[in-house]
Amino acid sequence: MVDLHGQYLKIKDEVLKGIESVIDSTAFINGPEVRTFSKELGKYLDVNYVIPCANGTDALQIALMALDLKPGDEVIIPSFNYVALAEVVKLLGLKPVYADVHPRFYTLNPNSVKQKITDKTKVIAPVHLFGQCAPMEQLLNIAKEYNLYVIEDNAQAIGADYTFSDGTIKKAGTIGHIGTTSFFPSKNLGCYGDGGAIFTQDSVLGEKIKSIANHGQKIKYIHDLVGVNSRLDTLQAAILLAKLPHLDEYNTQRNQVADFYDDAFKSLKPFIETPERADYSTHVFHQYTMILNGIDREKFKSYLASKNIPSMVYYPIPIHQQNAYKTNEDLAVSEFLASCVISLPISTEMEKEQLDYIADNISSFISQESSERK
Ligand SMILES: *Cc1c(COP(=O)(O)O)cnc(C)c1O
Repeated sequence: MVDLHGQYLKIKDEVLKGIESVIDSTAFINGPEVRTFSKELGKYLDVNYVIPCANGTDALQIALMALDLKPGDEVIIPSFNYVALAEVVKLLGLKPVYADVHPRFYTLNPNSVKQKITDKTKVIAPVHLFGQCAPMEQLLNIAKEYNLYVIEDNAQAIGADYTFSDGTIKKAGTIGHIGTTSFFPSKNLGCYGDGGAIFTQDSVLGEKIKSIANHGQKIKYIHDLVGVNSRLDTLQAAILLAKLPHLDEYNTQRNQVADFYDDAFKSLKPFIETPERADYSTHVFHQYTMILNGIDREKFKSYLASKNIPSMVYYPIPIHQQNAYKTNEDLAVSEFLASCVISLPISTEMEKEQLDYIADNISSFISQESSERK
């Protein structure tokens, strides 16, 4: 699905120099690269606090821990999503409340969110799924009206820009009270292991998050809060420092792949519905996820596999229908999307030849399927 090796070859010298310098200095834990990377990422995002941590799931957990929530407090999250958010909400004794998503943008639907608000609701947690921002302005307005926190899960959209109706532009992850991200290798800004970070503009939250990520201490061996041990490895920070200057270029390359697919599949409507772009957000295409209409997804997938074309279903079961998280809700759009989405390979290193091969094979499969139907 991604070509990490091809990308590595282009920055090999920078990466190896960074790794060598960490090993030479033996500052493996909280070395200077961790601080430098946090500072550089803060500049890139224009955010006051970047608190590095061990992975994107920890980032979400620490963000929630910083909000003084009580057991049973409710966190509204999208059901069509990766499991991490629901998982940490549950682990903290909070109650995940699932809202539905937009049928074409795949992100949280503000109307559905509004219907889920109760007097126990404390947080709305939008996810910028597949690389495009959730409708933050509407969600922030709802949060303001009901006095709620907003935590953005930005694991999939680092580098995306959100435009408010007054023209203000902010980077994804810096819009709500707290933002989180993951540096998992396949993410748009991925390291070579695990990593994550938490963002906030708020100094009170920022200091608290820093302390929670470090065993709840500000001064060594003085523990004012119950915290966790969650650090970004210095080696990973050195790799991220080498990659950060390339992030915009990586996101542009992903957009070029997405534009190619859009164009190639235009004539395959309604069998294939390509992902739609919201006017308030740029898209960084962590995934190129399309909808299959009246096409058997398993058959499509095995056909692609037979041609050596990888594909993935993100995500096949909505969270509210997972055994560990089951509720009796009816979230029609999440259920619909889980039944018919499919994601194609997208990365910074795709050749025209590969793209043509994928598009040609998909076109012939669809034309065969549609002619059989006639
Ligand atoms: C990857 C991802 C996470 C978790 O990141 P890890 O670093 O793997 O813990 C959380 N949320 C979303 C939406 C993700 O895509």
